[in-house]
Amino acid sequence: MSQLQNSWGIFQHDSSQIMDTEMELMAASTSLLDPASDFDRNVPRICGVCGDKATGFHFNAMTCEGCKGFFRRSMKRKAMFTCPFNGDCKITKDNRRHCQYCRLKRCIDIGMMKEFILTDEEVQRKRQMITKRKEEEALKESLKPKLSEEQQRTIQVLLESHRKTFDPTYSDFDKFRPPVRADSDRRSTRRSSSVVMQGFSSEDSSDNYNTSPGNSAPPLMFSSLELNEESDESTSMSVEFSHLSMLPHLADLVSYSIQKVIGFAKMIPGFKDLTAEDQIALLKSSAIEVIMLRSNQSFSLEDMSWTCGSNDFKYEINDVTQAGHSLDLLEPLVKFQISLKKLNLHEEEHVLLMAICILSPDRPGVQDTALVEAIQDRLSETLQTYILCQHPPPGNRLLYAKMIQKLADLRSLNEEHSKQYRFLSFKPEHSMQLTPLVLEVFGNEIS
Ligand SMILES: [Zn+2]
Ligand SMILES: [Zn+2]
Repeated sequence: MSQLQNSWGIFQHDSSQIMDTEMELMAASTSLLDPASDFDRNVPRICGVCGDKATGFHFNAMTCEGCKGFFRRSMKRKAMFTCPFNGDCKITKDNRRHCQYCRLKRCIDIGMMKEFILTDEEVQRKRQMITKRKEEEALKESLKPKLSEEQQRTIQVLLESHRKTFDPTYSDFDKFRPPVRADSDRRSTRRSSSVVMQGFSSEDSSDNYNTSPGNSAPPLMFSSLELNEESDESTSMSVEFSHLSMLPHLADLVSYSIQKVIGFAKMIPGFKDLTAEDQIALLKSSAIEVIMLRSNQSFSLEDMSWTCGSNDFKYEINDVTQAGHSLDLLEPLVKFQISLKKLNLHEEEHVLLMAICILSPDRPGVQDTALVEAIQDRLSETLQTYILCQHPPPGNRLLYAKMIQKLADLRSLNEEHSKQYRFLSFKPEHSMQLTPLVLEVFGNEIS
């Protein structure tokens, strides 16, 4: 009884004294509360008053919500209780309502303090602070870029389309005409992979094929391969060139890839809204660029080759030169593959980039440029938003700009490819190795 009276005494001190006590407690409470949050997890969460499940520290003691409310109400009302028994009731979860005197006594015994109760004004201020913080968070959240449902759907469709048209096991490659490498021991092939990094010295490449002095090869195409006039081997080399042993296999590979690119394009949201003529115009001019883009998936930075399963389907620079392409194309192409690989694109970004490449309004022959542009704009916005909200730093830095630069690089690769293809297909013995689809898409110089 006397203990409780002492405690009550504190509450009846004059206000200045209470203020002092309050200040001290405020200071104490901050140091008390911080360790408490750590300590919380280890301490059994049991109400020190009634043994019910506690919800945390309330007014300086671990209590349940019931006892917290009881203590606050009792203090606010300055209630005076008496015990109907002998002043030492044991308070439990079930009987805690029976004796308010002993419950309050227990509250004080375990250290609950009136000074920890916020005044109405403080409660108001605290509520306002919480509301303000919530509003700030909501504002921040609303300003954060978000993919719209339509954009998310577009990404999903493109991912599925790509997965349906790109087989990472390359199991169909067995059906192509088999690859025939002129140098059966792959001597110069092995060499070429180290040459890639040194910038393709012309000696290394020239021992594979060359245009003989009397040949009518346009100087632009094989300028980097021109063999010294004094070479005795030039005639035999030109024979090897005319064989182009890798051409049948790579022509089938390109033809197969064109089919897959067409399959992918048809599933791009909006592509089917275009006229058949515009669809064809877009596909014809972008096919080789998309093939270059998608081939990045098999490109390996370790040996600078396209590795499509077994060793037979591992393509090095040398293999492509044996299909009639020169380093004027292959050197920038490998550089392109390396820098694209280093962007570490997410699959989402990879498929969006291919779709954006196909939907370019400035391709020759496109009639409804406005519609193509509208579809491409939608895809570009989706890509930009995706990078903003899904690609973490530092990889996201200037990523969109770098990706758009890749599209510009593809244009010059495309131009060089056309030039070399035109020369290649000009010869009937070569064009007869191509497939009807390749001839249709890349053009047939003979007909
Ligand atoms: Zn309790
Ligand atoms: Zn009692």
